[in-house]
Amino acid sequence: MPSLSELYQEVARCQKCEALVKNRTRVVPGDGPEDADVMFVGEAPGWHEDQQGLPFVGPAGLFLEQLLASINLNRRQVYIANVIKCRPPGNRDPLPSETDNCREWLERQIEIIHPKIIVTLGRYSMGLFFSGKSISKIHGTAEKRGDIIYYAMYHPAAALHQQSLRRAIEEDMLKIPSLLTEAESVPEAKEQPQQLNMFEM
Ligand code: URA
Repeated sequence: MPSLSELYQEVARCQKCEALVKNRTRVVPGDGPEDADVMFVGEAPGWHEDQQGLPFVGPAGLFLEQLLASINLNRRQVYIANVIKCRPPGNRDPLPSETDNCREWLERQIEIIHPKIIVTLGRYSMGLFFSGKSISKIHGTAEKRGDIIYYAMYHPAAALHQQSLRRAIEEDMLKIPSLLTEAESVPEAKEQPQQLNMFEM
């Protein structure tokens, strides 16, 4: 299996989405150790991320770091990725074709890292892993598929300035350590999602 750095080189050469390739400064593949237990999946790079080539390094990233500190973790101990690896022009929402094009990279990251828990941040990421669900209903809930726990949270950028979402994301983050230590009590998924083929493994 190729390493993360080999994968990053491939992602950096990706030309699949014309609009994204034209507008990007840097590709933002992901950041963190290959043996991370916890993997966060956000939406797409913003301006700061595009400049630095690293995910979650702007205001949402600072908030994510505060949330991590609340469970005694820091960003060097977790893996952070996004659904799409290039900044959409003007920070628009990712297009379905872009999400489709980028899916292979995320699948391969998950295969390499094989985290104990995948935490989805926001609607886009949730939509990939919990198809057809609503974030206001399923945030803070987890399900197991094989030996990976899937856990949905609000996006830190959305929660940063909205008091009720902020409380929810703070509370949801605090549940992660017990999900990891009590993985056997997390319910198995009733149905397998159809979207990411790695879940069929
Ligand atoms: N928002 C995201 O979803 N990802 C980032 O990397 C930064 C902000």
